[in-house]
Amino acid sequence: MKLESLRFLNLVQVRKIAEEFGTPVFIYSESEILKRIEAAKSFPNAYGLIVRYAMKANPNSNILKIMLQNGIFLDASSIYEVERALKIGYPANKILLTSQEPPNSEKLKEIVNQGVEFNACSLHQLELYGKNFPNTEISIRFNPGLGSGHTKKTDVGGKESSFGIWHEFIDKVKNLLQKYNLNVKRVHTHIGSGSDPEVWKAVAKYTLEFAEIFPTTQIVNLGGGYKVARMSDEKSTDFQLIGEPVKQQFIEFFEKHGRKLQLEIEPGTALIANCGSLISEIVDIVNTGENGYTFVKLNTGMDANTRPSLYGARHPLVVIGRNENQNHFQEYVVVGHCCESGDLFTQKMGGELETRLLHKAEIGDYIVMEGVGAYCSGMSTKNYNSFPETPEVLLEQNGKFRLIRKRQTLDQIIQNEV
Ligand SMILES: *Cc1c(COP(=O)(O)O)cnc(C)c1O
Repeated sequence: MKLESLRFLNLVQVRKIAEEFGTPVFIYSESEILKRIEAAKSFPNAYGLIVRYAMKANPNSNILKIMLQNGIFLDASSIYEVERALKIGYPANKILLTSQEPPNSEKLKEIVNQGVEFNACSLHQLELYGKNFPNTEISIRFNPGLGSGHTKKTDVGGKESSFGIWHEFIDKVKNLLQKYNLNVKRVHTHIGSGSDPEVWKAVAKYTLEFAEIFPTTQIVNLGGGYKVARMSDEKSTDFQLIGEPVKQQFIEFFEKHGRKLQLEIEPGTALIANCGSLISEIVDIVNTGENGYTFVKLNTGMDANTRPSLYGARHPLVVIGRNENQNHFQEYVVVGHCCESGDLFTQKMGGELETRLLHKAEIGDYIVMEGVGAYCSGMSTKNYNSFPETPEVLLEQNGKFRLIRKRQTLDQIIQNEV
């Protein structure tokens, strides 16, 4: 496997951050985020585009503010995310709630009356909305019956997925719409990660069919799931390549039905994954004999990045010598600091131990893990083994490093125990 290199930091910066903020520590690059925002905003579209940031990817308020300042709307996945965004001043009418667990009627009324939009993801949710807001407009998430997640666990479409209203239940949807006198404003699908233009074409085709069935539809939301290359042997989704045929489909829809539909996309990964690095320190190096492996142990683990143990996901790992980089290389297995055999950072795609070629490492050297901007800090098995939440630092456009989340203390870990 190819030797990976640093993505946006340089050697001097890595050492400086480690000394100033301690390790482990997450670093996010503002200028990298801005580049991804521009790319998303240039997604081909015929009649207007709204880009929503799936805030579950990384909900730090400083990241959300960058999104807000650059015209990005939000996809919230729980009532708590909605409240978190409102708290920092995100305008309610820029937030769409698409959640597995709906808020109770009281909370639902509170946020919808402020302007938050609600995306009904099940028949039960549609009924809940209808009861509380009869004679209004609604947004509906459908499961179009196909999925394309790059692993089983990220597949959110098809019959094995519980997300959205199953496409065969249109009559049930129509009955509820009639019962509460609701008009469909937005149809929504989100079926999982992928970069294949053919899959996106199919997603757009199925989603546009819902827009045809519900003639009051104004907005078609195709969700997120744009795969990005974290490792150098992977391929990122090309927005122009997958977007152009989608744009054509919207034009054909207009020619056939006389309705200009607005396009909405909801990237999480694509906006932030490759804008984050995790700097850790090597705390031990052990081996299991002549026919065994050499293990590098880090002072971070699944409590900061759960993706490898959850999905068998791969992240670039780069050894940075404390003073200088050695010119020798070695095959290593890299493990996290949790007492858990699954806390393993060098796995084959899908989850089996493998070795990685790295610069020869010594205890005390740094390891930078790349591609950790999305679904790491926000999705970790936090506080496992009572390790504190990892701090976060923003590399601002002006080149300055700013702490945007402190390291958690032991007192904070146990503060709710009674
Ligand atoms: C998670 C999620 C997204 C973002 O998915 P990515 O793979 O991060 O792009 C978008 N929409 C919905 C409804 C989601 O649940």
